[in-house]
Amino acid sequence: MSLINRKIRFLLGFFQAVLLILKGQIRKAEQDHRQSHGILPVYFHNPDRKCFQKLIEWFIKKDYVFIALDKIEEEVKINDNRKKVWISFDDGWKENYTELLPVLKQYSIPATFFISVDCIEKRYFWFSYVRKQASSLTNAINEFWGMPNNERIIKVQQIIENSGKRPDIETFSIGQLKKLASCSQFSFGNHSLTHAILINCNEFELDHEIADSNKILEKYVGRKVDALAYPDGKYNESIIKYLKMHGFQYAFTTKPGLIIEASDNMILPRNSVPNYASFYENLCHAFGVWQLPINELKKLLNKNIKNY
Ligand SMILES: [Zn+2]
Repeated sequence: MSLINRKIRFLLGFFQAVLLILKGQIRKAEQDHRQSHGILPVYFHNPDRKCFQKLIEWFIKKDYVFIALDKIEEEVKINDNRKKVWISFDDGWKENYTELLPVLKQYSIPATFFISVDCIEKRYFWFSYVRKQASSLTNAINEFWGMPNNERIIKVQQIIENSGKRPDIETFSIGQLKKLASCSQFSFGNHSLTHAILINCNEFELDHEIADSNKILEKYVGRKVDALAYPDGKYNESIIKYLKMHGFQYAFTTKPGLIIEASDNMILPRNSVPNYASFYENLCHAFGVWQLPINELKKLLNKNIKNY
């Protein structure tokens, strides 16, 4: 996104967020949160440090309690007045380590990192590399998300070889992952081996992407890993069955919501906060209310189309 587009997007997001807040959507979401005794699951990819810190400080000011991954199960059963939030990060972006770690440590925030081990070993993300090469590609970028997994791996490899340019370093290193793992406040989850879209994988590839990568990740972090975040939030029944068979306790989607006692552990919600947005927009995303105007518009359109 060019700088001008980014600024326009920032401003539009700011105004939409202010409208949502003025309409009382955050207040209502906070009420729902309190009534459900649930946990607010907030996740990030590679957020700007200032935006991230401001959001964390808002939660602290509002007396939120930060919950660790291994406490989710028991915390959803406790009906008290504490407001609970769980923080996680996807992929393993290097700035999570260089920029955000001081904030996480300063406020002793327990956080979970969902890691794509192969990307960490190679130090780049294929989707990010493909995006950067967009103008020279014959395939539209979106096609890569729908391709059979083996085809995607071959095509990405070809793109890298043809460009003759080594991908930029985008992830933290294995050494940094191990340093994170030496802090008990952090926990780790699987995010597939190569950041594969799991619904595009056959059974053999699932073994590679999930079971094999889990063993490697467990070796690096020195603990058992039994949680997974579906890359791009994509899953189906056979993937859920596969995860259960392989001892996974939790799997997280990208659907907004609250984690409550009645939630299905294999399709738990998470609210995505963008990398670069205003504080008000981040707040709307964190509470899962950002999609409300879009959902209302969709409902209105559906109703009118049916009546037409
Ligand atoms: Zn991801």
